[in-house]
Amino acid sequence: SVKCTSNTCCTLAPLLRKIAAQKQQIEKSVQALKHQQAEFAAITQSMNEGLLVVDAAGKVLTINQSAQRILGIAASPDTPLPLLELSRNLVLEEAVKAATAGRRTEHVLALNGRQYRLLASPSGPAESVQGAVLLLMDDTENLQAEQTRREFSANVSHELKTPLTSISGYAEIIRDGLVQPQDIPAFAGKIYDESARLMALVNDIIKLSRLDERQAPAAREPVDLFHMAGQTAAALQTQADDKSIALAVTGAETTIPGVPAILSEVLFNLVDNAIRYTQPGGQVQVAVGREGPQAFIRVADTGIGIPPEHQPHIFERFYRVDKSHARESGGTGLGLSIVKRGALFHGGRVEASSQPGHGSTFTVWLPAGTDA
Ligand code: ADP
Repeated sequence: SVKCTSNTCCTLAPLLRKIAAQKQQIEKSVQALKHQQAEFAAITQSMNEGLLVVDAAGKVLTINQSAQRILGIAASPDTPLPLLELSRNLVLEEAVKAATAGRRTEHVLALNGRQYRLLASPSGPAESVQGAVLLLMDDTENLQAEQTRREFSANVSHELKTPLTSISGYAEIIRDGLVQPQDIPAFAGKIYDESARLMALVNDIIKLSRLDERQAPAAREPVDLFHMAGQTAAALQTQADDKSIALAVTGAETTIPGVPAILSEVLFNLVDNAIRYTQPGGQVQVAVGREGPQAFIRVADTGIGIPPEHQPHIFERFYRVDKSHARESGGTGLGLSIVKRGALFHGGRVEASSQPGHGSTFTVWLPAGTDA
């Protein structure tokens, strides 16, 4: 055997042992990091939110599947590409610029008909920003609801002003003695009508706001829709008689778990519309029943109908097919929005079909529940 004559070997041995131990330690750490990375990838890949990490130069370091889908870009290759080369979205560009400059910003990104909230934060300490983290959340429903509320408030003010302007106008000319005494009852009648309109409007607005805020009592109780339809028809019988409209209710007892006040509004608005938009001598039929797990209320009329181009909009707030006719018909423009919200409140939906000149049919579908 060869005898070691050198001393070096003996001095090196502990060092080599130490290196070997360190190597093992490093391997362990690498293993742990790999594990963590896999965990991170598993979490981020399954996220619904889009997650993007870019470096200080704006190159994509990490992009999860959701972010790729939302932004419509492919997974980053091994060589990281600048995000702004992959997507030429101006909002995204602004967000990356701000974040890499150390500022935290929030944006709304509209893509493919959806709206996303984009949160962009700098990564690393403020004095030496290493890049940015971008989070994309689909917030379409919330943002749309916000938009609807804003538009609604603006429209409400406008709608309230119209009758108020008439009321104060008539009152003013009476006060100033500009109306002949014999004409005063007629003017008072106009004031009365406009006040009624205002009252109807305010009532509908309150109902809708309650439905929006879900302040309506949440406790459900058994409601027989057939019985309720009979009551609604009775309440509107005079209106039907005035126009010689034949109003009929068919069906059988159909009990569902519901909120009576809301369901009664749904029925009232549908039958009220059917009578209002049907010429004298026409027919309005209310049918109540059940189809499998669903109860239905169907209100069919032989009225003026709704032109196809208007049909997609009739459930919007304050939408009216014929704006000039709407005033004399006395509607608030909110009836069908109340019907729609009322159906949604109960987990149901409403359908409309119509043939201009022949009539319209509105069907509300409501979950019939188990106890019914
Ligand atoms: P309104 O108070 O004006 O009736 P609604 O929200 O109830 O408001 O209805 C919106 C619009 O839809 C109405 O202005 C009318 O043009 C149309 N509409 C609703 N129901 C009927 C119906 N049964 N027949 C024809 N048109 C209808």
